[in-house]
Amino acid sequence: MDSPLPETFSERHAAVEARIAAACARAGRDRADVTLVGVSKTFPPEIVSEAIRDGVTVLGENRVQEGLAKAPLCPSAEWHLIGPLQRNKIRHALSLFTVLHGIDSEPLLHDLARVQDETGARPDVMLEVNVADEPTKHGFTPAAVRDALRAALADGVLRVVGLMCIPPFVTDPEQSRPRFRALRELRDALQDEFSLALPQLSMGMSGDFEVAIEEGATYVRIGTALFGRRTAGAWKPERSPDSDSYFV
Ligand SMILES: *Cc1c(COP(=O)(O)O)cnc(C)c1O
Repeated sequence: MDSPLPETFSERHAAVEARIAAACARAGRDRADVTLVGVSKTFPPEIVSEAIRDGVTVLGENRVQEGLAKAPLCPSAEWHLIGPLQRNKIRHALSLFTVLHGIDSEPLLHDLARVQDETGARPDVMLEVNVADEPTKHGFTPAAVRDALRAALADGVLRVVGLMCIPPFVTDPEQSRPRFRALRELRDALQDEFSLALPQLSMGMSGDFEVAIEEGATYVRIGTALFGRRTAGAWKPERSPDSDSYFV
């Protein structure tokens, strides 16, 4: 970002909130239809606690073990997994996260359904779409997401609520607009084809969330603009005695 960030969490939160409200107004959307996910990865529980007390009550973590270690040290909040989920961590993920943003393969969907069956957990699931077909990125191709959705519905227990994307990094947020629009149009097409509601679109980060809101985002995942830059020496969970058996 070009301009320096305000000093305090409250000021940064107010600035982000004002930008969300302005983007909603420009798009003729209701502010209540957009949920701010504060991306707290690498930040220590003291700072995340401050965020929660300031009203950022939905937090996003991209690593299961970091979220599991951090959440008990913070006031109660809603925790979302925004990063990839490894198949051997599903059970642990479901003990904390109620929304999974980045489900990105059919084997993972099947394992998730099996664990949900066993545990009774019913998280909201979003399918990640590799909107620019980047070989290095996670996510279903727009073509493969159809088959994934069909498989997910066949499993019966999965609650697929929408789509998520992380478009390629660009310096001008306008360059992300066609990607966000493509995700929304894909969502619209899937809703028609499968006759089901997919109300959620998880798209937009610090650099481009206003454009994402204009294109229909219902979850914006914002780290830097709220918490500041992530640095080396970031917070790491302490190893618990059984961490090896949990997180291989
Ligand atoms: C880190 C992260 C974000 C937040 O990025 P910022 O640019 O700091 O806002 C959003 N989504 C995902 C999946 C991330 O891993």
